[in-house]
Amino acid sequence: MANGIRYFIGNWKMFGIPSSFKILDKINSYFQKDKKNNKKYKIIIAPPLTLLQDFSRRCKKKKILISAQNCYEKDNFGAHTGFVSPFMIKKIGINYVIIGHSENRASGETDKIIMEKISLAVKNNFTVIFCIGENKEERRKKKTLNVLKKQILNGLKKNKHDFKKIIIAYEPVWSIGTGKIPSPQELQNNAFNLKKFIKKKFKLKCNPKLLYGGSVDKNSIRSFKPIKELDGFLIGGASKSSKNFIDIIKNFYK
Ligand code: PEP
Repeated sequence: MANGIRYFIGNWKMFGIPSSFKILDKINSYFQKDKKNNKKYKIIIAPPLTLLQDFSRRCKKKKILISAQNCYEKDNFGAHTGFVSPFMIKKIGINYVIIGHSENRASGETDKIIMEKISLAVKNNFTVIFCIGENKEERRKKKTLNVLKKQILNGLKKNKHDFKKIIIAYEPVWSIGTGKIPSPQELQNNAFNLKKFIKKKFKLKCNPKLLYGGSVDKNSIRSFKPIKELDGFLIGGASKSSKNFIDIIKNFYK
């Protein structure tokens, strides 16, 4: 059961220019006014790299937290053109990083690379939002849980992890950006079994944190709301508009 804080994490992907801070400001104003519920949830926004430092500065006095969307897997500095290390991201005041997003897996990020990224990010004291998810074919063949377990074990195998620093984001690949969502029963089963598996495998005293991601919007959030195993949501498309993002939170607490 998820009785603690809920996470609403916005992944902007390749969206946003400097003036997009206005979206952040509107979300922050809503949060400040939502006195009834705002102790029950955390908002994290993951803008593109070009906006990270500006957003990090702006959010020093705000309650919104900022996350990077990815990081490099080796070294603090090095000859890796076009990449940035967890160390560099940490130095601009960021404490969260998304790792293993299916869009990055699709462009060549292997379980091994993901494992290296996670261990370097954890070493740099990040909280990692670790994405896993089955594709359409794997789901059709009823391999979902096996795929998810394998991704978890491969991604976390290097270190003994402090699960306070790992948030698992279960994102079925077939659901991302498609408007298709799992039935509440399917999602509840997968979330329940995943949490049970992680707790046993890593000998945890508390439940790990588990988010759902995939076509979450102001309408679909209603069907996710009763699923007690979920500690929050990773939101792509609907997080680029302050109104859509706020409506998700409003409908969740309605
Ligand atoms: C995502 O890419 O992490 C995501 C969940 O996207 P969307 O909400 O657009 O399906």
